[in-house]
Parts: sequence; structure tokens; C-alpha cells
Amino acid sequence: PDSKLPQVGTTIFSVMSQLANDAGAINLSQGFPDFDGPEYLRKRVAHYIENGANQYAPMTGIPALRTAIADKVERIYGRVTCAESEVTVTSGATEALFAAIAAVVQAGDEVIVFDPAYDSYEPAIQLNGGKAIHLALNPPTFSIDWNALKAAINQRTRMIVINSPHNPTGAVLSADDLEQLAEIVRDTDILILSDEVYEHISFDGLPHQSVLRHPELSARSFVVSSFGKTYHTTGWKVGYCIAPAVLSTELCKVHQYLTFSTVTPVQLALADMMNEMPEHYEELPAFYQQKRDLFCQLMEGSRFSCVKTSGTYFQLMDYSAISDLPDTEFCRWLIEEAGVAAIPISVFSEAPMETRLVRFCFAKGDDTLRAAAEKLCKI
Ligand code: PMP
Ligand code: GLN
Repeated sequence: PDSKLPQVGTTIFSVMSQLANDAGAINLSQGFPDFDGPEYLRKRVAHYIENGANQYAPMTGIPALRTAIADKVERIYGRVTCAESEVTVTSGATEALFAAIAAVVQAGDEVIVFDPAYDSYEPAIQLNGGKAIHLALNPPTFSIDWNALKAAINQRTRMIVINSPHNPTGAVLSADDLEQLAEIVRDTDILILSDEVYEHISFDGLPHQSVLRHPELSARSFVVSSFGKTYHTTGWKVGYCIAPAVLSTELCKVHQYLTFSTVTPVQLALADMMNEMPEHYEELPAFYQQKRDLFCQLMEGSRFSCVKTSGTYFQLMDYSAISDLPDTEFCRWLIEEAGVAAIPISVFSEAPMETRLVRFCFAKGDDTLRAAAEKLCKI
């Protein structure tokens, strides 16, 4: 049959992790921690599994978890949030992103994404009959070109997808950025899909500028987060979406037929975790900043160069002093020659990228980071 996604192959994350495993390389490619989440959280999941919480959760999520999410959003971002009508628990942020797009994008609609863009946006747009309009972020800071955005908007523009802290570059949006965005979409019907899965991982004291802090933007936004990033549990695939009731209603029409509901014992345990250990959020930036700083310091002995990342658990490194290879080939070479796997970033862009940058994940034990840097310093 004709493929609905002819240009899509296997995601770069699966490809690179497979190559790393096959070669026995240290895997700093796909983004996931090599350590476990909090013991309390794991014990709560085990407790609920052993005590009968193993059937379908309510479609929109376990009430205690939705309440804990609404409380957090209000406490941290000052947005008064209705747990019943504005919070939907989803099977990972990936499901929330897909459901938000499927809920509002119609045939012929344009959706603006900023390149390099996380790879799940475009297929979701395409499968729903939309067209992704790619605007390049400006290296080296990977900031948004607001004039280019203004110029790209037209009657067909249905949605703009933003992502801060940004995967793969680590760039973060400022309060001024949100103001610019608000000004551009004012007096239009354009919706915002804000991918904030790394909301609790920003560095150097930079506050996360959630769209939820901005009442005007928040009123037209789907804001997506992921417990996988926050609690070192990417394999559990639980995330959520905050949106005004009218948008959440539409999102749920898709969610109820995409997955219906999300894993019950994990939701119950996450609710306990959020209520009992809210300090986890406050500790996360310092936890990952130590790893970022360690990795960058160790890499000073290499021929890679970097500007320290502002958020996420990814660090871009420039390899132009080592090789002229395009980044995907360089990553294959790096697995063979150095025994370390990274992610090429050109695969996240529509237009060819001039840069010689690869992405390393530093959500790893310090010993793993030391071992990887030692190998990388030799090439
Ligand atoms: N958006 C971004 C920017 C991500 O990095 C990820 C995680 N890889 C996701 C969405 C998906 O999150 P989840 O694993 O919760 O589906
Ligand atoms: N978000 C993770 C990353 O950026 C990967 C998620 C996935 O493998 N789909 O590496």
C-alpha cells in the first residue's frame, strides 16, 4: 500500500541506541537516565500493583494525580487550574502531543515548527492532514526569529509548536520571548502547543518560562509535560496536558480513542510522590547542573567544543576541529572509533544544516560520564 509517511524511517533514537548496543558503545544518544527514579516512588508503584490497583484508570486520569498537577501548576506558575476540566493525564508526552495536534489540525491547516524540532511533531501534523512549516532557529543560541514567524503566519496557520527547554539544543525561552509570541498571535485564532517536558531541568538559576505563567498565551495553549523526565522514569510513559476546558474537551475526544487511559498504579504513585516530596522539583536543576558541569569540564580535554546548555539533559558539542563528516556519518564513525554514541541534530531539520554539532545525553552516572569523556578525549 501507499505509505502515509513515505519520508519516515525508524527514529534516530532507536537507530542510534541499537548501533550503540551492537557495538558495545557507551550510549549518550537516546535521552534517558541510566539511574533509577526515587525509591519512594518505585515502592509506591509496587505497593499499588500488589494492592489491586491494576484496572483501567478514569479516562482523563486518576483524580488525585490531576489535583496534584493542578496544585503544582498553581504553586509554581501561578496559573489557577481546574483539575477536572483542564488536566488530562496521557501515556507519555508523546501521546499528549499527538492528541493535541489531532484534536485541532484539519486538512490544509499549517502548523509552524522551529528547526531543529523534536521528531514526533511533523508526522502527527501530516497524519492529520496538516502541513508543517519549518522555521530555522538561529544558531549558535538557537533563538526564535520573530520576524520570520510574523512573515510565516497566514490564514491557514492553525498552530505554533514551541519547546522550551529545547531538545536537542538546550535553548530556553525568556519572558520577553513569550511576550513577542503573544503579540504575534494576538487578534488571531492561532493555537499554541507548548512542549515543556524539561520544565524542571533548567540551569544557572534561569527560571522556566512556562506558557502557563502567561495568562494571554495560556488561554490558547496546550501545555505538555512528562513525568519520565522529572522522575527519571522514561520507561513508564506518563505525561499530561494542561489546556483550557474547551481545548481539553477536544483533546480528550482523541485521547479516549487513542489510549483511553494511562497506567493506573503509576498514576497513583505519582500522585503520592507529588504530594509527599514536592522538593524533588527544586533539587532537579542542581542535580543535572552538576552533571552538565562535570561532563563539560571533562570534555575540555577533548577537541570537541561547547557552549554550556541552558536546560534539558542534553549538551551540544561542535566537532568541526575533529572531522568534516556530516553529523549522521560522524555519529556512526564516533561509535566505531570512540565507542560513544551521540545524536546527529541535522535529522531534526528540514533544511540542510551548516553546523557540525552532535548531541550528548548527560543523564548518566558520573562514572559513565567519566568513561565516555575519557574515550572522547582520545579522538
Ligand atoms: N518532547 C520532547 C522534546 C522530548 O524530548 C520527549 C522525550 N524524548 C518527548 C516529547 C516525549 O516524552 P515521553 O517520553 O513522555 O513521551
Ligand atoms: N526524547 C528522547 C530523546 O530526545 C527520546 C525519546 C524516544 O526515543 N522516542 O532522546
